[in-house]
Amino acid sequence: ASKRGGRMRCTWFSEDFDRDREAVRELDNELRSALANEEFRVFYQPLVDADTHKIVAVEALLRWDRPDGEPIGPNIFIPVAEESGLINAIGLWVLRRACTDAMAWGDITLSVNISAAQLRNPEFPVQLGYILEETNFPPHRLDLEVTETCLVLDPVVAERSLNVIREFGVNVSLDDFGTGYASIGFLRQFRFEKLKLDRSLVVQAGMDDGSRAMMLSSIAMARALKMGVTAEGVETEDQATLVRTAGCDQIQGWLFYKAMPFGEVEALIGAQNDMMGRQRAGRGNAA
Ligand code: C2E
Ligand code: MG
Ligand code: MG
Ligand code: MG
Repeated sequence: ASKRGGRMRCTWFSEDFDRDREAVRELDNELRSALANEEFRVFYQPLVDADTHKIVAVEALLRWDRPDGEPIGPNIFIPVAEESGLINAIGLWVLRRACTDAMAWGDITLSVNISAAQLRNPEFPVQLGYILEETNFPPHRLDLEVTETCLVLDPVVAERSLNVIREFGVNVSLDDFGTGYASIGFLRQFRFEKLKLDRSLVVQAGMDDGSRAMMLSSIAMARALKMGVTAEGVETEDQATLVRTAGCDQIQGWLFYKAMPFGEVEALIGAQNDMMGRQRAGRGNAA
């Protein structure tokens, strides 16, 4: 009986597998036409200075408005686009859109997520160079967020690409730190400008001493390697206090801002720049 049961489970598994393959293929076709039909939008989530709470950077986050489908998040559709290679075209679209949108945001940093498949593509650095030229975006204001998967899969190609990218003056951050296996060796080898502590680590650090110790040692390590540190997914005042006193210099999370459309973030940054301009002018008059 156990043998038959085993075989049946096996059959079910392979049927599910075929159905999944079919669903993935369908989603990929939909994504292809979404790109052609301009159904994608870029939202922006502000990152604030941990002490002053001023906006210092924004992260570009892809959104897909399906004309008559359910809304579906990037955590679902990006992996599909990665598997088919479509992420290369989508990723370039995001970069071009975001660099164009963020052009007039003063000295605010623009962070854009880059997939493993993009970093592995030997054409990527050249295409990035074209986009910088085309949009005239200052490379030092651009920060590319990569995850350790990018680096583990093909460290030689990744390092080569990152070196070219850095020659442009573009910064590179390690995203989602604390979720995987990224080692001290990695941090040294790739010399990231910034470490982003994943939301799961931030949440856990507020709950148990072991996770807090892990967060503190990650921050100490990043500091020793002269990297900036951002805490992701901060939702409560307690978490904000915790990560600030632990030494994070930037905070990203719903406590401050959610991801928002271009018009909203532009108004927010415009208001902040006006206020800082007035403060500077005020000091100038007083002096
Ligand atoms: P990520 O790069 O780690 O981005 C942060 C995610 O955390 C975003 O989810 C953001 O909306 C969410 N988040 C920020 N603050 C909070 C908070 O306080 N609480 C909670 N619960 N969540 C918060 P989102 O926009 O759904 O994106 C998910 C992931 O999809 C991103 O994670 C990134 O890995 C990927 N992604 C998004 N846009 C792109 C893109 O243009 N290209 C690539 N390759 N990946 C992208
Ligand atoms: Mg990110
Ligand atoms: Mg992240
Ligand atoms: Mg994350």
